[in-house]
Amino acid sequence: LVAASEVVGHGLWLSAGGRLKLPMDIDVTHAADLRSWVPSADAVGTPFPIQNLPFGRFRRRETNEPWRIGVAIGDLVLDLRLARDTQGWTAEVEQLLVPLADGDLNAFMSLGTVPRRRLRRALSAALLEGSDQQDAVECCLVAQTDIEMSMPCRVGDYTDFFTGIYHATRAGQLFRPDNPLLPNYKWVPIGYHGRASSLVPSGHPVHRPNGQTKSSDSAVPSFGPSRRLDYELELGYFVGLPNPHGTPVSIEQAKEHLFGVVLLNDWSARDIQAWEYQPLGPFMAKNFASTVSPWLVTWDALEPFRAPLLRPDADPAPLPYLYDQRDMESGLFEIQLKTWIQTAAMRTAGNHPICLATSSASEASYWTPAQLVTHHTSNGCNLQSGDLLGSGTLSGPLRQASGSLLELTEGGTVPVHLPNGEKRLFLEDGDQIVLEATCHREGFRSIGLGTCAAEIGSALPLVAHGMGR
Ligand code: CA
Repeated sequence: LVAASEVVGHGLWLSAGGRLKLPMDIDVTHAADLRSWVPSADAVGTPFPIQNLPFGRFRRRETNEPWRIGVAIGDLVLDLRLARDTQGWTAEVEQLLVPLADGDLNAFMSLGTVPRRRLRRALSAALLEGSDQQDAVECCLVAQTDIEMSMPCRVGDYTDFFTGIYHATRAGQLFRPDNPLLPNYKWVPIGYHGRASSLVPSGHPVHRPNGQTKSSDSAVPSFGPSRRLDYELELGYFVGLPNPHGTPVSIEQAKEHLFGVVLLNDWSARDIQAWEYQPLGPFMAKNFASTVSPWLVTWDALEPFRAPLLRPDADPAPLPYLYDQRDMESGLFEIQLKTWIQTAAMRTAGNHPICLATSSASEASYWTPAQLVTHHTSNGCNLQSGDLLGSGTLSGPLRQASGSLLELTEGGTVPVHLPNGEKRLFLEDGDQIVLEATCHREGFRSIGLGTCAAEIGSALPLVAHGMGR
């Protein structure tokens, strides 16, 4: 269990822009002037300076070696399987490295906040300029260009929420122009149970799904490749410490159960969705694939980027079980989000991806991650280590800041024009979508979540599955 003395710097308040006071758990690992003996970790613009230290699961490319857990540092990875056998760790850190060396991030995630912070401090010290562990640890580094990555951990269950209020509003407008937000939205964190088995790591191809659709001018539905394939820009919150079945988690406790954050692309087939969604919500329109970024950035690394949940005064206060003053003041993170597209034609011509939209996670979110944990467990539902909670599409207030094509194209009616003359209403085969996230705050070193990328492959042939004629 958590000893209060372990929370270093608990209660430090930062004045951001002279108007907000944010409580943050800051310690020596967040100091902006920390430098690593790994040169690329000190490069301007790297998402992985020594202040980040995200976890990923990897092996060297084109080998069959066992998957192991690594920590990104600059453009390298610290291989914890090798690092476990080096000198210089305390006995406690050696213990923490055991499951990680075996490639089992879930076991480490389940330990909660205090061990995670202890390991963070140990890794930070080992990678710090002037560390006496440099010679030993240097042999445990691998270039990120030489590895392949899997999902960071086993995901037992995946729940997708709908916390992006501007997305909820714009998507609702397409169906109900006069009443875009349903009456429950500002009271209950809306979500549905997604599919964990089809979560795939960044870089894994995503095939256009076949499915049942029905156009408005047709009397009967048909089966075939989706013609309205879309992406959804989301964050994924990973659960660390589990809660026993029948034991709700309060907002105050919720932070102890949250491990870290990834980027999540919740691919969505709008035509399949439109036909199937009533009365039970998303199903086949969503469960064919969701792409996850490979580096799991810990809650600790995000501490300097905390942000308040700001709601208009006219909105209802959350019900007491969802309300905590500290969570309202600092329960979100200031994460800048970008969506990039590169079409097949752009790739052939050597054109770089172009940015479709940018948004801010804290501006977009109507509920905090802690509120999602508390709501999810409030009926006694148990969350397990490695469970993934999707944020929902994090679109900004303006349509140009949308995290989906559904919004950018106003329901598939106003095309997005690309610089090479192509245009898009929805995704075409060969399109690559890249999500990117970075965190910046004055007085702190910027960090990033890296990227979450996938290319759309053509639909699987119907006949191969005995479904065609
Ligand atoms: Ca979604």
